[in-house]
Amino acid sequence: MTTNSPVLQTFEKFVIPNYKRYPVCLVRGQGSRVWDADGREYLDFFPGWGCNLLGHCPPRVVEAVQRQVAELIHVPNTWHIESQGEWARLLSEHSFGGQAFFCNSGTEANEAAIKLVRLHGAPDRYKIITFQGGFHGRTLGATSATAQPKYHEGLGPLVGGFRYAPFGDLDAVKKLIDDQTCAILLEPIQGEGGVRIPTQEFLAGLRQLADAHQLLLVFDEVQTGMGRTGHWFAYQHFGIQPDVMTLAKALCSGIAGGALLTTAAIAPSLRPGMHAATFGGNPIAAAAGIATIQTIQEENLLAHAQQMAQIFATRLQGMAQRLPVIREVRQVGMMIGLELICKGAAVVQQCLDKQLLINCTQSTVIRLLPAMNIQEDEIQRGCDVLEEVLGHVVSQS
Ligand SMILES: *Cc1c(COP(=O)(O)O)cnc(C)c1O
Repeated sequence: MTTNSPVLQTFEKFVIPNYKRYPVCLVRGQGSRVWDADGREYLDFFPGWGCNLLGHCPPRVVEAVQRQVAELIHVPNTWHIESQGEWARLLSEHSFGGQAFFCNSGTEANEAAIKLVRLHGAPDRYKIITFQGGFHGRTLGATSATAQPKYHEGLGPLVGGFRYAPFGDLDAVKKLIDDQTCAILLEPIQGEGGVRIPTQEFLAGLRQLADAHQLLLVFDEVQTGMGRTGHWFAYQHFGIQPDVMTLAKALCSGIAGGALLTTAAIAPSLRPGMHAATFGGNPIAAAAGIATIQTIQEENLLAHAQQMAQIFATRLQGMAQRLPVIREVRQVGMMIGLELICKGAAVVQQCLDKQLLINCTQSTVIRLLPAMNIQEDEIQRGCDVLEEVLGHVVSQS
């Protein structure tokens, strides 16, 4: 798009500029490919910021949503809808049992978790331990839980009661626990923080601490959940079960939806009247959520994602050996971070110029969140572009 394009002009005039947007207007997508208004095709290694884990417009989800909108768009949670119960059952059966609360986004799921653990710990316990480099969303509670000073600037006073520990430091967590602590909240793999993968021992240690001090262990699986890691949920990759889990992003394949799951023993703490979400678990989200789970099952996508992750791993490890600009490759399934020795913004721009969509987080980490149903030739093609661009970065520096 040129700078005098009507789309850009309308944005400039009427849309609050809180996002840094590229001058590209996307109009259509299918699988791991998207097209812009000028008809240019892009290969998408970051579809929907992690929301489109089944790629753009997965047919079962499209069909389920189309059918649903013609039948019933919204009903409040004063009534029962069969699909919401069915969705909860499927999530429960694929995770640790228990029950679901539905909302519309990741930050809302975490707000529900914050309220739940406080209600469960009331009246004496309210403090929650979270981790540096974590990310939990943009509402004030979730922002306060997010231990990254850059997201707090100018917002004070924040919601009280959060205590921050270095990610991976069990001793620090131990020291922060007191009589008022009710929970430990973390992403089992930090996403926005740069695809930081903890050791199994760290998560096991947190589980032990939580049990010893009767704290609730909350996993924010908003980015890691629904198959991203090659398992339904990242906690299954590590074999460490949380008491509470939050989900969103890929939960409904791109339709807005969020959920909190917890055990049947803890669930009653979120008692009637204490929490709600008007749109939570609505018929469209439920239809999309169910179709998402069915697609993963019926198309065997966990196994496919594990295979494709191996192809990524081989390509990226090779790249890292050839190109010193790559400091480290971190990957679990379809969650990939390439730590560079320099800033990554130019890499993202140059990939965009070559019609490959990627992301950079924490300024030096190239992040890829590819679709689970990506195909091998797409991986090879995108990695060719990435390698060419990264090779260019080296020769420039
Ligand atoms: C994206 C993200 C959130 C926030 O989700 P929203 O839907 O944008 O509110 C929370 N936690 C994690 C781990 C995320 O990646």
